[in-house]
Amino acid sequence: MMKLEQIYEGKAKKVFKTDDDNLCIVSYKDDATAFNGLKKGTIMGKGAINNQVTNHLMKLLEQQGIPTHFVEQLSETETLVKRVSIIPLEVIVRNIAAGSLSKRLGLPEGTPMKRTVLEYSYKNDELGDPMINEYHILAMEFATKEELDLISDYSLRINQILSAYLKDLNIQLIDFKLEFGKLPDGTIVLADEISPDTCRFWDSVSGEKLDKDRFRRDLGNVEGAYQEIMKRLMGQ
Ligand code: UDP
Repeated sequence: MMKLEQIYEGKAKKVFKTDDDNLCIVSYKDDATAFNGLKKGTIMGKGAINNQVTNHLMKLLEQQGIPTHFVEQLSETETLVKRVSIIPLEVIVRNIAAGSLSKRLGLPEGTPMKRTVLEYSYKNDELGDPMINEYHILAMEFATKEELDLISDYSLRINQILSAYLKDLNIQLIDFKLEFGKLPDGTIVLADEISPDTCRFWDSVSGEKLDKDRFRRDLGNVEGAYQEIMKRLMGQ
């Protein structure tokens, strides 16, 4: 597989073309940003951890019938994925109140939600990823009704699979963000990443935060938290 020119550079990853038009290479960086790019920093070893944690979880999801963009890990920080056009939605799944939901609804962080909450944001940095609902999505033609039903169905199934898997590792899945892409034939697959950058993970016993909130809120031992997640999931 030939790695060709860079197509895109985001906040945490770079994407490269390959000699196969249907495949790209994702390269994970140690760069960290928060608050829509206002806070910047480096988390040593994050790229390698997020790449390997994402691939581990994507493989688990594939085994459970969720289609993903994952093809093959190439190195500690690089993965071969199917080329997709990203649907410009961030799907947020919440089991326990935290972050922006706690602020918006005045719910103390840690309050269990009586049922799983799904939210959508329009993926647009200039607009600050505004929250939108199903009507906006259909009116803006980000997805059809059928596609959105499939995306929400996948998101809830992913929540069940990941929550159960993590529970056995003494990790509570508080909330997380998903992105989906479309293959050339229209098939919708899970894309992007599933990592401590995009999920809230709390230790089930101590309640300790093991995710990017340590960076966002200057809680210290950011690297240690990422390493702990990698260790619990993959034993390394
Ligand atoms: N999230 C993300 N990218 C975003 C916004 C949120 O990965 O651009 C994740 C975040 O890590 C958390 C969940 O989605 O696990 C819910 O985030 P929230 O809306 O509470 O926003 P935050 O408090 O992170 O600004």
